[in-house]
Amino acid sequence: MDFRFDTLAIHAGQPNEQRTGAVTFPIFQTSTFGQLKPGVTRGFSYGRTDNPTRRALEECVAALEGGGQGIAFASGLAAASACLQLLRSGDHIIASRDLYGGVYRLFTKVYSKFGLDFTFADLTDPTQLEAAFRPETKLLWLESPSNPLLRITDIAAASALAKSRGALVVADNTFATPYLQQPLRLGADIVLHSTTKYLNGHSDVIGGILVVRDAERAAELRFIQNAVGAVPGPQDCFLILRGIKTLGVRMERHCRNAVQVAEFLAGHPKVRRVHFPGFAWHHGHEIARRQQRMFGAMISIELRASLAETQRFATLTKLFTLAESLGSVKSLLCHPPTMTHASVEPEVRRKNGIPDGLVRLSVGIEDAEDLIGDLGQALERIVSSAEFDEDRTAPGRPALS
Ligand SMILES: *Cc1c(COP(=O)(O)O)cnc(C)c1O
Repeated sequence: MDFRFDTLAIHAGQPNEQRTGAVTFPIFQTSTFGQLKPGVTRGFSYGRTDNPTRRALEECVAALEGGGQGIAFASGLAAASACLQLLRSGDHIIASRDLYGGVYRLFTKVYSKFGLDFTFADLTDPTQLEAAFRPETKLLWLESPSNPLLRITDIAAASALAKSRGALVVADNTFATPYLQQPLRLGADIVLHSTTKYLNGHSDVIGGILVVRDAERAAELRFIQNAVGAVPGPQDCFLILRGIKTLGVRMERHCRNAVQVAEFLAGHPKVRRVHFPGFAWHHGHEIARRQQRMFGAMISIELRASLAETQRFATLTKLFTLAESLGSVKSLLCHPPTMTHASVEPEVRRKNGIPDGLVRLSVGIEDAEDLIGDLGQALERIVSSAEFDEDRTAPGRPALS
């Protein structure tokens, strides 16, 4: 039977346990599995290779992405690393310019040492994307909405172009989650998640996962998962599965709250600019409307304030915790220039549109009025400067979907 998203989130890969009928899929906390005869197993041999709780998570996320197989990793970056391990020295990768800082670091500081070559382009611009392709381009790395500016890439158009050039497409779907967007249906080959974020949703696990349709590619990635060994433990898989059960209801509330918070911020005199795909003026709004169910719950703002006042703002909120990460039930806030994107060189950062006054909000599922009150009192207390007056976005109503 074909079940819909919210049913799959609770049932896919997680039947009631056979022996006792336990309705929650158990944590198989074991490193190895007894064999029937030498080399003959009951389907599981060794904990790095496979584990029933991990397999339940892999099947569940694959079902949610509408894909064939999930392959789980110890972190989002371990999952990203596995994608690069599909390549060989001399291969070329095109990636979006405003990329998650840790992925940028993985590319430029680790894999560039092994003869992989990277081009960072503005993938929201089809001409730039087209120009970046070379005969040896093997991978196109998309992030939409992107981090931290929430820029939107047309996943279907970019994937079609990559396909025509013989390159695979990896889509980092961490910000949108499969509830809002399913990149495999839009033509991507591999979907990546940091399950640390919305999929787990409760700020208590680090994890990552890939989802692929092509069986041969899945087998290659599963080989890498076992051969390299960056696998998640069964407890963590259990917690992520538990989080996923409420993904749909959480995302509805996250997105509703974000619309209210974005509207408040866009009308605030100390806010110079609001980056949120729900605004009609946001670059890529129409594409987001087409490829996403709702606009997500990540908002970036540029304050009309100096670096020092921006950093002070980040310490004045009481409900928004100043912390790395996103996608939790609890609201979080960060200062990308000195936190998530500190590993990106300052001149590259500014060139990529990440000014010192940028603050990124991950809107949680608390009461929206309380969140607005919290941001309001923190904005009251900072000193704004007229030098940041020009180019302010007009207030307006963001759309929900
Ligand atoms: C957090 C994040 C990652 C890295 O995931 P970890 O679980 O922290 O290793 C990759 N991509 C995006 C978009 C992220 O937000």
